[in-house]
Amino acid sequence: MKTYFIEFSYLLASILFILGLRGLSHPETARRGMHLAEFGMVTAVIGTLLQREIISYEWIIAGLLLGSTIGLAMGVWVPMTAMPQRTALSHAFGALAASLVGVSEYYLHGAKLGEFRMSAVGFEVLLGSLTTTGSLVAFAKLQGLVPGTPLTYKGQNIFNLSLLGVTIGCFCILLFHPAAAALFYLMLGLAFIFGILLVLPIGAADMPVVISLLNSYAGLASAATGFAISNNVLIIAGTLDGGSGFILSIVMCKAMNRSITNVLFGAFGSVTETAAATSTGDMREANLGDVGVQLAYARQVVFVPGYGMATAQAQHALRELADALEDRGVTVKYAIHPVAGRMPGHMNVLLAEANVPYSQLYELDHINPEFPTTEAAVVVGANDVVNPDARDNPQSPITGMPILEVDRAKLVVVLKRGRGKGFSGLENPLFYKANCEMLYGDAKDSITRLTQAVRQA
Ligand code: NAP
Repeated sequence: MKTYFIEFSYLLASILFILGLRGLSHPETARRGMHLAEFGMVTAVIGTLLQREIISYEWIIAGLLLGSTIGLAMGVWVPMTAMPQRTALSHAFGALAASLVGVSEYYLHGAKLGEFRMSAVGFEVLLGSLTTTGSLVAFAKLQGLVPGTPLTYKGQNIFNLSLLGVTIGCFCILLFHPAAAALFYLMLGLAFIFGILLVLPIGAADMPVVISLLNSYAGLASAATGFAISNNVLIIAGTLDGGSGFILSIVMCKAMNRSITNVLFGAFGSVTETAAATSTGDMREANLGDVGVQLAYARQVVFVPGYGMATAQAQHALRELADALEDRGVTVKYAIHPVAGRMPGHMNVLLAEANVPYSQLYELDHINPEFPTTEAAVVVGANDVVNPDARDNPQSPITGMPILEVDRAKLVVVLKRGRGKGFSGLENPLFYKANCEMLYGDAKDSITRLTQAVRQA
C-alpha cells in the first residue's frame, strides 16, 4: 500500500511539474504555474520521506529548516537585478548535491556497480561537478568578484577540449573497470577544473545563456541521479529541467542572433568598436518641457524598457508616467524585446511588479508594424535591442539580431545616463538620427521629471 502511495505521489508530482512548466510559458499564467510546481515539489518530498531507506529524520528536518531559512532570506533580500547570479548560486548547490550523491554511490558500491549504474553515476558526477564550478564562476563574474571580461589565452579552446577529452576518457574506462577508484576521483577533479575553464573565457554579459545551459546540465545530472538510485521522479524532473534549460538557451541565442558555440567559445565581450561607421553627427539633448508636451498630446506612446530600467528600478515611476498619459487620453503600450535586460522575462517581471497590465505588453512582431504610426517611442535604458545597425549594417557583429524598430517612430526619446554603451559594447546610430532626442540622467529621475512635465502640459 505504502509503495503504491509513493509511486502515486511521484506521478502526481511529475504531472504538476509539467503543468507548472506549461503555466510558466505565459506571463498571465506564470504565477499559477509556479504554485503548481511548488505543490508538485512538496508532493515529491512527502513521497520520498515515506521511503524505507530514510536513516535519520532529524538530519532531514535540520537540513529543511536551514535550507528554508537561507532560501527565504535570499528571496526577501536579493534585489531583482541580482537574480541571474542568485540563480547561478542555486544551480551550483543543486549540481553539487547531485555530484555528492554520485560520489557516495560510488564510495558505497564501487566495483559492484554494473555497467548501467556506473554510466549513470559517472554521468551524474561529471555533469554535476563541472556545473558546480562553472556556476560558481558565473556567479563570481556577475557579482563582480572576478573580472567580467572574457579571460582568454592562445590555444585555450584546444586545451579545454583536450581536458574534456581526458575526462570523458576516464568515464569510458570506468564503464568497463568500475573498480578503478583512482580514475573515478581523477574524473571528479578534472570535471571540477573543466567547469572553471569552460566559463572563464565567456564575458559576464553572456552569463545568462551560460547559466541556462548549466541549468540544463544540472537537470541532466539529476536525471542521472534518478537512474543511479532508481528514483522515478528525479528522472522525470531532471529531464524536464535539462530539456527546458537547453531550449531556453537556444531561444536566447536566437534572439541575439548568435549560436551556442559562439557564446561558449567566441569570447564575445572582448569584441568592441567595429561598427561605428554609421554613427555620424551629433546627439541632440531633449528639452524636458517640450518632450512633456509632445507626449501629452500624442495619440499613442510606446515605452521600450531595457537593462537601464532594471538598474534604475524605474518600473514604478514608468507606470505613474503611463497613468498620467492615460489620464489625458493617450494610448500607452510597452514593447518587450525577448533579450532586453539581462535574463529571460526580465522586463515582464519588473513591469508585473509595477502592476502594468499584461494586455499593454507587446512582443516584437506585434509592435514593430505600429512604430511608423506612433507619435513617440520612449526608450527607457535600452540600447542594443533598439540598435538599427542590427538591421541596416551587414558588418555589425549584431547584424541579423531582431530589434525593436523605434527609429521608425515620429519621435524617439532615449533615457540614459550618458554615452555608456550597451552589453555588446557597440555604438548605436539611433542616438544620432534626426528624430531622436536624448534625455540624460538616471532613468527613474528622468521619468519622474517627465511625469511632472506631462501633468503641467
Ligand atoms: P543594454 O544594451 O545593455 O543597454 C542598457 C543601457 O542602459 C546602457 O546603454 C546604459 O547607458 C543604460 N543605463 C544603465 N543604467 C541606467 C540607469 N540607471 N538609468 C538610465 N539608463 C541606464 O540593454 P538592452 O537594450 O536591454 O539589451 C540587453 C542586452 O543584453 C542585449 O544585447 C542582449 O543580447 C544581452 N543579453 C540579454 C539576455 C537576456 O536574457 N535578457 C541574456 C544575455 C545577454 P548609460 O551607461 O549611458 O546610462
